[in-house]
Amino acid sequence: PERVPAVDGPSGRQSAPHFVLVPFFAAGHMIPMVDIARLLAERGVMVSLVTTPVNAARTRTAIERAQASGLPVRFVELPFPCAELGLPEGCESADLVPSPDQIIRFFNGLSLLRAPLEAYLRRQRRVSCIISDMCHPWTRSLAEELGVPRLAFHGTCCFALLCYRNLQQHIEVCDSLDDEMKPFVVPGLPHRIEITREQAPAPFQAAGLEKFRSEFLEAEETSHGVVFNTFCELEPLYLDNYQKVSGKKVWAIGPVCLYNNLDVGDRAARGNKPAVDDKFCLSWLDGRKRGSVVFVSFGSLSWSTPSQIIEIGMGLEASGHPFILVIKAAEQSPEVEEWLALQGGFEERTKERSLVIRGWAPQMAILSHPAVGGFVSHCGWNSTAEAISAGLPMLTWPFFGEQFLNERLVVDVLGVGVCIGVKRRAKWGVTAGEEVRELVKREVVEAAVRELMEGGVEGQQRRERAALLGQKARKAMEARGSSDENLARLIRDVSLMAPHASPCDPFDKSSEEGGLVN
Ligand code: UDP
Repeated sequence: PERVPAVDGPSGRQSAPHFVLVPFFAAGHMIPMVDIARLLAERGVMVSLVTTPVNAARTRTAIERAQASGLPVRFVELPFPCAELGLPEGCESADLVPSPDQIIRFFNGLSLLRAPLEAYLRRQRRVSCIISDMCHPWTRSLAEELGVPRLAFHGTCCFALLCYRNLQQHIEVCDSLDDEMKPFVVPGLPHRIEITREQAPAPFQAAGLEKFRSEFLEAEETSHGVVFNTFCELEPLYLDNYQKVSGKKVWAIGPVCLYNNLDVGDRAARGNKPAVDDKFCLSWLDGRKRGSVVFVSFGSLSWSTPSQIIEIGMGLEASGHPFILVIKAAEQSPEVEEWLALQGGFEERTKERSLVIRGWAPQMAILSHPAVGGFVSHCGWNSTAEAISAGLPMLTWPFFGEQFLNERLVVDVLGVGVCIGVKRRAKWGVTAGEEVRELVKREVVEAAVRELMEGGVEGQQRRERAALLGQKARKAMEARGSSDENLARLIRDVSLMAPHASPCDPFDKSSEEGGLVN
């Protein structure tokens, strides 16, 4: 059953536009949508954020903080029928899907949200638009039936989306290559970007997911525009180019992680409950020299094998730099624990200068601390945007999806990254114990970490470029910055989009009491 808390607030707010946000259920998609919800609500927009019980529990702190400060954000908590789908109870987020074959069930389950969401929306006096994650193509027909505009949100940068689009349109370039490891130039880009077929993103190409791919492409074509978690100064050529080739309206409103940037509580409460007290973490960092600590974290979905984790740890130890290493819940194993915690083991040897976090880390709070000087990352877009926002150089270690493209943006276009040099992609959803691709040895990790944190003149220039980008990111989000203005434009543009014949009139101005009928 849906949980629809009452909306408090002055009556003026009740005639505000009403945006419905439908995130994909994975940290990398939920977290920026929650930020977008708060940014919109700060502008007086009424926001309904679609979620499920497990996702709501993970996000509750962030939303409750927003509600406590009077922001009109509400959860629309819909049931996710795991048992009916043949999924384990509570399997409501991509990171909780236990095996690759279950991913298809998980994706199938998403469209079951349509009926309860429709029922909720039909009870509303006003729905101004739906901002839907690309992974919910079913929102297309829902928006059409309700006669409201549907905007797309991909959770990635514009560079990656443009690369993906161009690769799709020139699929023969990819298909003609018999060597999947041979680099080729991505067609139609303002820069010369090389990638291999192995590294090219292949959303929904796993067996059984093909139908989602065509649905996603269709839903993309018919959207009224695209909301990006990026900023104009970061990738102006790509935003421009994407707008031209897609003919779509584009709103770059990020980096949304800079929402309420100064509030440590907000920075720490992102995506899930941290496994470590953020105050402890931050006071540990307080005791380190400025720019001295390496932060190592590979997002929420990329799992490393025990032997890879051990190589990473040994490489970090040998580099001599202080570090924070995140080992997520799915990566924990007796083998890793033994290596970490035995007497004379890794944690004991490095305890003067290391912190190992087992589980969810308060990543944004850590990255924003001045003691952190470099980020070893899988190049998920949120992590990348967070590093850019914090003005940090990155050691890029992509796993799958568009992460290899993000690596190219960070290294080749922005000049703020060093590659670890992985050539093969990992398989999404493969359990942590399985060897999925090349093992990166400790010597390689050590050398790459040294390059990131030292790196001579080049390293210094990388750090300066990264610091400058961080300043630009913060400026974009400040009052009258480019993203701030784009957010205002987004709200204005939605208000001007002509409503279609609709059971819920998107811009019902007739009713003085207006508001949302639960
Ligand atoms: N994250 C976090 N703590 C963790 C792991 C991840 O806060 O221990 C956050 C991270 O800050 C980012 C998101 O989870 O906002 C991960 O998104 P990203 O796009 O980087 O990667 P994905 O998890 O989708 O691969």
